[in-house]
Amino acid sequence: MLLRLMADLQLSVPPTATGDEQLKQAAARALQLPLADITALQIVRRSLDVRHKNPQLQLKLKVYTGATAPQPLTAPPKYRHVADRPPVVIVGAGPAGLFAALKLLEKGLRPVLLDRGKPVETRKYDIARLARERVVDANSNRCFGEGGAGTYSDGKLYTRSNKRGDINEVLQQLVHHGAHPDILIDAHPHIGTDKLPGILARIRDTITGCGGMYHFDTCVAGFIVKNGTVLGVEDTQGNRYEGVAVILATGHSARDMYELFHRRGWALEAKPFALGVRAEHPQALINEIQYGPRYGRPGETLLPPASYSLTAQVGGRGVFSFCMCPGGTIVPAVTAPGEMVVNGMSNARRSSPYANAGIVVQVDPAELSEYRHCGALAGLRFQQDVERRMHSPSLALTAPAQRLADFLRGKTSSTLPRTSYVPGVAPAPLHELLPAFVGKSLQAAFAQFGKKMPGYLSEEAVLVAVESRTSSPVRIVRDPKTLQHVQLAQLYPCGEGAGYAGGITSSALDGIRCAEKIAQENFLFR
Ligand SMILES: Cc1cc2nc3c(=O)[nH]c(=O)nc-3n(C[C@H](O)[C@H](O)[C@H](O)COP(=O)(O)OP(=O)(O)OC[C@H]3O[C@@H](n4cnc5c(N)ncnc54)[C@H](O)[C@@H]3O)c2cc1C
Repeated sequence: MLLRLMADLQLSVPPTATGDEQLKQAAARALQLPLADITALQIVRRSLDVRHKNPQLQLKLKVYTGATAPQPLTAPPKYRHVADRPPVVIVGAGPAGLFAALKLLEKGLRPVLLDRGKPVETRKYDIARLARERVVDANSNRCFGEGGAGTYSDGKLYTRSNKRGDINEVLQQLVHHGAHPDILIDAHPHIGTDKLPGILARIRDTITGCGGMYHFDTCVAGFIVKNGTVLGVEDTQGNRYEGVAVILATGHSARDMYELFHRRGWALEAKPFALGVRAEHPQALINEIQYGPRYGRPGETLLPPASYSLTAQVGGRGVFSFCMCPGGTIVPAVTAPGEMVVNGMSNARRSSPYANAGIVVQVDPAELSEYRHCGALAGLRFQQDVERRMHSPSLALTAPAQRLADFLRGKTSSTLPRTSYVPGVAPAPLHELLPAFVGKSLQAAFAQFGKKMPGYLSEEAVLVAVESRTSSPVRIVRDPKTLQHVQLAQLYPCGEGAGYAGGITSSALDGIRCAEKIAQENFLFR
């Protein structure tokens, strides 16, 4: 007997009731059917509802009767062999560049990936040195190298916008390369820093196996331009790479790329971004606030470490939580000596005893009057200045920090709680070091957050600075129809660095869009 779909069903069950038999019983009850009629269940969506301090799993299920197994949720991608196909140069092997490359394989064009950093297998040693020895390699760090800023990230895979494309395509590609299939059904999919390098190495095997190429330790410093058309790029060693198109996916930390465009008079514009601090709490406290006291205590819950999402309006300015990492760690995300930048990450199990989140304030470049003379680089210069102010030459990567309660009182902390930030923290008056409008907006927003999440303004909560690389402060302007730079034909500014995405998923989707556009433009070659 063939498998037959009987019903699509929505169920709300306690987090403990997730065994196959328990779910079949719940489905039989909900559909008023004999239990024996249900032979298979397939969860297609899973989310956790914590609104009423009585956490419930919300499940969307397909309920089947019959004998064969349900169809898997993934279909294998159709890559082509491209070794003798026209090359497309991709600058930057972050999510935007890599997903562009995978799409080019499907379309029959040859990706040639150039990245200033190293492959994941060796990049990890520079990341370790960054934390332990406080040595910053300007080409190999948490933002630069294979996988880009996405590699040692938290690996949260959701985007606030569904308009950018088919998120499922990105998730399917990740599962095809080794990510856990749960990411296809979870409302808030997450991979974890410990799993991402393996996935990236498998993506590299796919790309090189189909005839694509990678060049690591290759920092692009110029473009080969003829009559307004980009024919290729040149690296710092003078090597040239040519192709039918160039995808520029260098991420929001490649400041030298923005400087190059600025010097050459190629179109750039300042764009809004956000800047603030990373707030860290004990994870048990966040569990207790979100799930209720019973679930706060370690060992008493099957629930995942709780997360939160907070927003506030302060005098018309948005302040919001960003990249919340339950069971996570605060990490240095600097890309050059002399600056201080933090971000957050977690492993797949989210097992650290800390919960951290960026709490950031919207910055509109139009209001940065002191930086007006910097033109399109106004926001970038402001961001740079704050990062330099937060850096102490004598303390290197030690991060300035303040208890949240002291930040609200406007007082430097005499002691700090333990934090997850490995290079260490030192007490600093963040309320004075941050630009005044940022500090004041944060103080007002935290007061609102304390009302929304009673317990959030705990004496144990600590702020670590500075969370400044939330998104790009600059846009490399492209034509919305052709996706090519408005002055340079065949150049496709792409991903977060170009100002058209923010986060892993939206950057990957933007890479896919650019690759599809290039394939359309080069239809003669297909
Ligand atoms: C610690 C951390 C945690 C994060 N956590 C999350 C998360 O959980 N979820 C999420 O959605 N986002 C997260 N992010 C953000 C996310 O990683 C980025 O939004 C995403 O990686 C941007 O993708 P991209 O491909 O546009 O650029 P990037 O990932 O920045 O990649 C750019 C690549 O270009 C290369 N490059 C730069 N300049 C040159 C040059 N001149 N020549 C050659 N190569 C160059 C770089 O080496 C890099 O590999 C996190 C970021 C960090 C740092």
